[in-house]
Amino acid sequence: MMNGGRHQNKFAWKPNLGVKINETEVGGRFQPLSEITGVCQRCKEQIEWKRRYGKYKTLTEPAKCQRCTKRAVRQSHHKLCPACAKEQGVCASAAAVSSKSSEKTSRKWRLSRRSFKRRSKMQEKEIGGVCCVR
Ligand SMILES: [Zn+2]
Ligand SMILES: [Zn+2]
Repeated sequence: MMNGGRHQNKFAWKPNLGVKINETEVGGRFQPLSEITGVCQRCKEQIEWKRRYGKYKTLTEPAKCQRCTKRAVRQSHHKLCPACAKEQGVCASAAAVSSKSSEKTSRKWRLSRRSFKRRSKMQEKEIGGVCCVR
């Protein structure tokens, strides 16, 4: 959100308007949704958006962690359990490194791909040269 504040929420579209909400359920008045933790800013905003527009699925039971496969994921839209996310230093939702190091690896990957292309071009030339000498 650009300049989101608590006071702006009343202008947001209410997905449950007119629907009687069970206030003791998760997300109701007596059981507010837990804070979104262990994710990067981008994923947090995404999850908050889902909550606002009623696309957020609350977990009825812990989900499986994609890394340690333990049923330790207690926050919906998360792929990793808090322990794995912390250990790996990654975002629990995207299961990717949320810091600059991911940029570094992708740049490295791009560079290696470029040099591979160059190498294969050189090989083409060599092969072409051999073909011409008959
Ligand atoms: Zn993320
Ligand atoms: Zn885990």
